[in-house]
Amino acid sequence: MFNQHITNIIYNYSYLQIYLVVIAYFYFLYFGLAPVFLYVCKQLEKQDLLQKIIKQSIPKTQLLFEIKHSIQSIFIFGLSALLLIYLKRQGAILLLPNSFINIMVGIIILTIWNEIHFFIVHRVMHLPFFMKRVHKIHHHSKVPTVFAVYSFHWFEALLLSTVPLTIAVFIPLSAVAIFLYPLVSILLNFAGHCNYRFGNGKGPSWRLFGSKHNAHHFKFANHYGFASGIMDKLHKLIIPKINQRKK
Ligand SMILES: [Zn+2]
Ligand SMILES: [Zn+2]
Repeated sequence: MFNQHITNIIYNYSYLQIYLVVIAYFYFLYFGLAPVFLYVCKQLEKQDLLQKIIKQSIPKTQLLFEIKHSIQSIFIFGLSALLLIYLKRQGAILLLPNSFINIMVGIIILTIWNEIHFFIVHRVMHLPFFMKRVHKIHHHSKVPTVFAVYSFHWFEALLLSTVPLTIAVFIPLSAVAIFLYPLVSILLNFAGHCNYRFGNGKGPSWRLFGSKHNAHHFKFANHYGFASGIMDKLHKLIIPKINQRKK
């Protein structure tokens, strides 16, 4: 029944219907979950489990800027989904059955791929050309909020939206894994933009989860990775070796 419904959406819905479903889904994730995530952070702060990273009040103009650009980004995200469906209908993408294991493995693959994909896009965005014209929109939020998660220039939103598209053409995934991935991604994104951290910012790396991206907004440099610091560590390891070989 559930699988039939998914097959029906993939093959029988018009592109306009699919576009509307996708943007409604992203609006639900953004406007539905951001206030809940913020509420939970505030409750945990009251119980001394979370601490605000930068104790600064956020002007209303910043919130409106973040929401306006996030609304725009969601319209762009919908376009990527259309291309994904188009490629599936053309037979360029294979989908796996929606078994529990396929869904879990699919979400893990997408999360790992996002770490690489985001690092590359983000590092390019910090080149002076893109920083000045594109990425400055996202860095408008010097102290980020949960509403900054999709606050991008349209071009950056387009690049970042290609995570499922760029892996699904090479590795078959289940449709439900692709559908659930934005939920996992936005939760990780909230953690990276909420301006809250566990404790005083010291201690084991799991306690610092999300704090690196918050710090990136404030300092503009370093920590180009998404949820983990793995890509930053790899980058620091590899680049000096390449430079050494050139000498
Ligand atoms: Zn950010
Ligand atoms: Zn940045």
